[in-house]
Amino acid sequence: MVKKNIQKMAFVNPYGKNVKEIKYFIYKIVDVLLNRSSNAEKFPPLPKNIKNFDKFNLNDLPISESKILKQIKIIINNSMNASNPYYLGHMDSLPTTMSIVGDIICSTINNNMLSKETAPILTEIENKVTKNLANKFNLGQDSGGVMLAGGSLSNIQAIALARNRILGSFEKGLIGLKRKPYIFASEESHTSIQKAAMVLGLGTKSVIPIQTNADGRMKISDLDKLIRQKIKDKGFPFCIVATAGTTITGSVDDLNEVSKIADKYKLWMHTDAVYGGALTFSDKFKNKLSGIENSDSISFNPQKWLYITKTCSVLLLKNKKYLYSDFFTPLPYVMKNKDEYHQGEITLQGTRYPDVLKLWLSLQHLGNFSYSEIIENSFKYTNLFKKKLLEINNIKIACEPQMNILCFRYEVRNKNANENDLLNLNLQKFLFKKHNIFFSVVKYNNLRWLRGILLNPFFNLRHIKKICLNVSEFTKDDKILKSIRSND
Ligand SMILES: *Cc1c(COP(=O)(O)O)cnc(C)c1O
Repeated sequence: MVKKNIQKMAFVNPYGKNVKEIKYFIYKIVDVLLNRSSNAEKFPPLPKNIKNFDKFNLNDLPISESKILKQIKIIINNSMNASNPYYLGHMDSLPTTMSIVGDIICSTINNNMLSKETAPILTEIENKVTKNLANKFNLGQDSGGVMLAGGSLSNIQAIALARNRILGSFEKGLIGLKRKPYIFASEESHTSIQKAAMVLGLGTKSVIPIQTNADGRMKISDLDKLIRQKIKDKGFPFCIVATAGTTITGSVDDLNEVSKIADKYKLWMHTDAVYGGALTFSDKFKNKLSGIENSDSISFNPQKWLYITKTCSVLLLKNKKYLYSDFFTPLPYVMKNKDEYHQGEITLQGTRYPDVLKLWLSLQHLGNFSYSEIIENSFKYTNLFKKKLLEINNIKIACEPQMNILCFRYEVRNKNANENDLLNLNLQKFLFKKHNIFFSVVKYNNLRWLRGILLNPFFNLRHIKKICLNVSEFTKDDKILKSIRSND
């Protein structure tokens, strides 16, 4: 029995002794949270400087709930505020309502996605939802998947499977391989591919970067050429990573052509659709993913364009059985029936958070219908934004936007590339510090660009106008300034 002098509200008392106090405290937190989320534009997209951090030293003695509440307010006010439509910097956005609800449920029931024994119904739901998503990508009847805490882990597990399957390294590892293994990926692919190669004992140099064309898509002829060259040099190509939605420009590799090359050389095709996988929810744009159905594996993050709270990532497989033949590591401490597999035996993680609940609730609540509308809307505003930005003198875009990502840059003719880079760093600072508009700065083709990711469903023409006005203010282009003002 818990002693009287420990915190009364340390736990929800299983005998109902503190229900009232806990409810009251949680309601107060909910008020603070909703005040912020429902007034998102009044708070800057990011805190300008973190205040009151000195109060955060840990104490040995318990502190009161009212002190905790004060700290919580500080945390909330000093956090990234992606609900603000002027937060355009990264692949983060406001969460679906059902994600928030799902998270409250998950932390309260505190199940463990290790096995059915530790998460009975949620494990069934995960199997259903991942199968459902695999079907959405047309991966065929033997398909299925697992969920992981983020896209990097999904990519790592996919490449681990490819390695075990093609190099036969499940038991033996890499020792004794006569030929050096290689992975081929676009130069614009995500750095988690290098990370995967590094942790899987292959080394980052085993990832061969393939040049991209003006649209940021992998050059297929280069892919073919480099694979052939490595085979000729006694290397062991085993995996191609295609990207469906690069992190910088949102470019989608030609997945049909990539799959032909994978077939030709008998390589594993992994598609990193961590960002762009959401397009499968849009009838209008899902053809951009044409060929993805030929992938051996796909990683996809509902935590990005499906607005599920972090983390939420799925790894989908054309043949789910490879998880059993090439990844399975048994858990001796959980009961199961013969021929059953615990999720903890076939995923990179052991204990896992039930990310599936918020995904499943949101997918039901919004339906394909609402998701497709949100996605198609963001294409519309991206094009509008591009058009308006290009009306400003000396604004250039990195490439034609292929989804809802736009990289632009201010370029003055009599300045060199470095000076113009500096100008763009200043433009980013100016927009953020002076106008509470947050773009990230990225490097693409060796130049610095401002990158806008138009995820927020509440982003509209009003925001575009204000941004363009402020960009013009920076570039001191009076003509544009006047015309934007007169349009208001
Ligand atoms: C974001 C991203 C990743 C990494 O996902 P995390 O969830 O951040 O680990 C991988 N690939 C692409 C294309 C991404 O955009």
